[in-house]
Amino acid sequence: MRKTAIVTGGSRGIGAAIVDMLVKEGYNVVINYNKSEEIVKRMKEEFTSKGYSVETFKADVSKREEVKNLVEFTIRKFKNIDVLVNNAGISQTKLFTDITDEDWQNMIGTNLNSVFYMCREVAPNMIHNKKGCIINISSIWGITGASCEVHYSVAKAGVDALSKALAKELGPSGIRVNSIAPGIIDTDMNKYLSDKEVVEIEEEIPLGKIGKVQDIAKCAKWLIEDEYTTGQVISINGGWNI
Ligand code: NAP
Repeated sequence: MRKTAIVTGGSRGIGAAIVDMLVKEGYNVVINYNKSEEIVKRMKEEFTSKGYSVETFKADVSKREEVKNLVEFTIRKFKNIDVLVNNAGISQTKLFTDITDEDWQNMIGTNLNSVFYMCREVAPNMIHNKKGCIINISSIWGITGASCEVHYSVAKAGVDALSKALAKELGPSGIRVNSIAPGIIDTDMNKYLSDKEVVEIEEEIPLGKIGKVQDIAKCAKWLIEDEYTTGQVISINGGWNI
């Protein structure tokens, strides 16, 4: 029987690469998206034409009720949830003193509350099955802190704390919870950087280049297959932070 995975923010960037990996590993994959309706429509057509099992579900994961609907849909359709990848996220660069209440709520809502809501809805199914793998995509900035991204750094540090604490609580039920904390990865999230800025960043990275979405998908694949890693924050960053 096929296993089932949910990927939040599976429409673009890192999430889309993880979706691609999971469908090719033979999972039923529920691709969550918020705004990229056309993109996921095309993804579904392409995957199903090749015989892969894919569903799409629109939900703003910062909203408790929409998360509930996403998880209910998945359980109705596939009964069990084996893998949850909490990937959806936003970033924003602002001076600390310019961050408004709305910016703060939006950042914490999308990047941290979403992980809480998703894990809380999915955990009972995994606990019942006595197995499961949860991967939370955090960030290097949650570990080191980033200037002009205080709200982002706080949200991602919170995600790492959630991964560690939940790993302790759910370990006895056979469920593993880990964070992947990427360095800089080539996605839409970084398209505001000029070519010159990218070169400057690459000069700071020991491996001399920014990462690819597949670098993160490979780590997710390994974490899913592994049986003895839990509560860890694995930073895939080309040596940018050691
Ligand atoms: P991206 O290319 O901008 O894609 C973001 C994804 O998140 C999209 O699929 C988007 O869906 C989804 N999303 C955003 N808000 C959402 C919401 N409220 N509800 C549901 N989905 C939502 O970003 P990315 O670079 O792939 O980032 C993915 C994750 O990696 C994020 O958590 C990010 O913080 C983290 N990360 C990225 C980097 C990097 O350098 N790229 C580094 C460290 C960590 P729609 O398009 O459908 O709205």
